[in-house]
Formats: sequence, structure tokens, C-alpha cells
Amino acid sequence: MDRNIEKFDICIVGASLAGNYLCYLLSNTNLKIAVIEEHKEIGLPLQCAGIVSQKLVKIINLPKEIVLNRVKVAKIVAPKGKFIKLSGVEEPYIIDRIALDRLFHEMVKNKKNIHYFLGEKFKTVEYIKESGEKLLVIETSKRVLKVKMLIGCDGPLSSVAKSFGITNKILYAIQIRISGKFDEDEAAMYFNPRWKELFGWIVPEGNGVVRVGMACSQNLTKNFQYFIKQLELDFEKKIEQQGGLIPYGMMNKLAFNNVLLLGDSACQVKTTTGGGIIMLLTAANYAANCIQKCFINGNFSRGIIKKYYETPCISTIGKELKIHYLIRTFLEKFSNNDYETIFQIIKTSKINNLITIYGDMDFPKAIIFKLLKNPLVFPFLIKFTLKYPNIFIKLLKILIK
Ligand SMILES: Cc1cc2nc3c(=O)[nH]c(=O)nc-3n(C[C@H](O)[C@H](O)[C@H](O)COP(=O)(O)OP(=O)(O)OC[C@H]3O[C@@H](n4cnc5c(N)ncnc54)[C@H](O)[C@@H]3O)c2cc1C
Repeated sequence: MDRNIEKFDICIVGASLAGNYLCYLLSNTNLKIAVIEEHKEIGLPLQCAGIVSQKLVKIINLPKEIVLNRVKVAKIVAPKGKFIKLSGVEEPYIIDRIALDRLFHEMVKNKKNIHYFLGEKFKTVEYIKESGEKLLVIETSKRVLKVKMLIGCDGPLSSVAKSFGITNKILYAIQIRISGKFDEDEAAMYFNPRWKELFGWIVPEGNGVVRVGMACSQNLTKNFQYFIKQLELDFEKKIEQQGGLIPYGMMNKLAFNNVLLLGDSACQVKTTTGGGIIMLLTAANYAANCIQKCFINGNFSRGIIKKYYETPCISTIGKELKIHYLIRTFLEKFSNNDYETIFQIIKTSKINNLITIYGDMDFPKAIIFKLLKNPLVFPFLIKFTLKYPNIFIKLLKILIK
């Protein structure tokens, strides 16, 4: 029986961005790594609008071919059509996401210690004890592996997370690529109580093509048709259509004995925008450091994984993700009139200036504290919170958690 079991140090489930980047970070350690991916091709199916802040180049060495466009302006549109335009120091990248997923795979795929198993599905995991050591036996659709560590990078519906009692709440997303006369410097976000959990987006890819999409928890098809009509686009002229899932909520528990979760499987996603790339790349660096510490110490307990992975994640991205969730909690209750009022407040030049200087699409803590001190914003928020006693309780719970 044991002869059929393949031995590895680590098994990474999921070869999208989180899995491939983590594998790349660990590729020079000589640890023997198996990467299990259910799809046959890396990067497909595409499920991303590809808008990422400039922090990307601080985390990875970004080849210029991956950047398709840059945007200078964020247009935010209220349900009745009123809009504000914000521009700041941030000029986000519009990236070729398939190429980014493939980049790290290409860099490691021929290394002796790295083994990619494509078209193969993770199914189950169980603990075993061998010579006093706790190990994991993993069953995939094609083989059985014995490993010291398992890393769940298997996205919003993560089977690895489920094996440890974690299930993500999710939003359903749709996106089309279509030619149209849109400003190539401008990304737009359309807010509406119909799709209150996120927004409708227009992301200019360049060369006259835009990515138009939306995510919400229900009535996606109907809402998207309404949105396309609002934009006066002809759906039939789409070049391509994509779907996808976005995890929704606060960051999960990340550490278990011999196991850690990374990326969408861990809900490391901003609930204000659905963006996960910067968060998962940041977390992957902590994960790589933690995994190396585990192997150096021969200790794979939840305690050590918590110390070197979960705790640093909580104190950096975790805090910011909590603020994103707080903002989202407010936005979900906004009526059409609330949008009108807040837009009016933001339109005053002082707040525009604040956002220009302190606005950060990934780490909103600085701008939120500045805004809370603003004599126009604070009274609006107090009045708004008092209008909804439930939201007040929810906010307290988030803050205490
Ligand atoms: C429509 C849409 C638009 C988005 N736009 C943006 C954006 O503009 N900017 C941004 O920052 N983020 C965006 N995101 C979020 C971003 O795409 C995710 O945060 C990111 O892809 C998460 O990467 P991941 O590797 O953690 O998970 P995923 O990309 O979900 O990859 C999980 C991988 O695991 C594999 N897998 C799943 N289950 C199994 C199994 N049982 N066995 C083997 N393999 C398995 C899957 O096939 C997949 O390859 C968007 C998401 C969607 C859906």
C-alpha cells in the first residue's frame, strides 16, 4: 500500500496566482513540492478585471509586457447617474492576468524539486502519525500523496478550507470584453442598491477594449442586463464573456496543524472592490517565510504557523481588510439619497484633496482616519449609523472581532 504513496515535503492545491507565486518563493529551498491544479492550463479560465495598484511593482518584478494600460482617474457613479472623478498619485495597472499567473509557473516548472500535476483535483486530506511525527495523507483524483505541509490556494470554494471547517461566503461575478468609446485613462465604478455587495465596473484594457463587469450575491444576470442597458452597450457585440466567484467577508482563520490557507481560499480579498492580488502576494511572502521556519524547526504545529503566518497577516493586511469590510457594511445600507448626499460632501474640494493625498486603494486606514476628522463626513456617518441600529451592532462586532 505504502509503495503507491508519493512523498513530498509540501502540497500546494491550486496553481493560480497564490499557488504559483508561493511555489516560486519556495523554489530555491530544495523542498520537494507538489502543486495540484484541477484545470489543464494555467491561467484559464480567466476570472479577473486585472486592475492592480502600483504596489505590485514593490512586491514582484513585473515584466512590462504584463501591463496593458494604466488609469489615472477613478469615476464613481451614483445610482441616479451623478458622478465624481478622483485622481491621485495612484495610477493603477491594468494587467494581463493570464500572463501573470503563467509568469511564476514558467520560472519554476523545470526545477527538479517542483512537480506540477495539472488536470488533477484535490479530494481529501487526513492526518496520520509516523514515527511520532504528524503527517498528512492527501488523495487527489489521480494519486495519493504523503506530505508534511498542505497549502490551500484553491480559491473561493476551497476544498482545503472546507476540510478544516471553513466555508467562504461568495459573490457571483460576470465580465465581458467589448469594444467601445470609453476614456482609456479612466476606470469606472457604478454603485446601485440592486448590486449592493460590490459595483458594476468598466476597466479600460487599451486599444479600444474595455472589461465591463459586475459582482453581487443575487440576480446577477438581470442586474448585468440592466447595467449594460444603462451603459448603452450592445451585449451581442461582446468579444468574450467570463464568470467567476469572489469571496466575501473578513479574512478567515489561516493556520491549522501542518496546514495554511492563502489567497481567496482564506478570503484575503478587499470587500470594497473584490480585489485580492496585492493582499495575496503580501500574504504569500509571510507564508513562504513561515513554511521555511517550520522545516528548519521540524515543527508544523498550528502554534508556529500562527506565529509566523497568521499573526503577521492579521497585523498587516488583516487590519486593512477589516476596514474594507467596515466600509462595505456602510455602503450596503446606502439608499439612492445617501449616495447623493455623500457625493455632494466629497465634491467639496477639501475632501477631494484629502483623497488625492491619502487615498490608497489597498490600505484605506490613513484616508479613513482623515475623513473621520472631517467636519462634513463625521456628522453624516453618525446620522447614518443611528438610522440603522442593526448596523451599529454589526460595526461593534466587527471592531471587537
Ligand atoms: C470577475 C473577477 C474580477 C476580479 N478583478 C480583480 C481585480 O481587478 N483586481 C484584483 O486584485 N483582484 C480581482 N479579482 C480577485 C482575484 O482574481 C483573486 O483574488 C485571485 O485570483 C485569487 O487568487 P488565488 O490564487 O487565491 O485563487 P484563484 O485565482 O481562485 O485560483 C484557485 C485555483 O485553485 C484551483 N482549484 C480549485 N479547487 C481545486 C481542487 N479541488 N483541486 C485542484 N485545484 C483546485 C482552481 O482551478 C484555480 O486555478 C477578481 C475576481 C473576479 C472573480
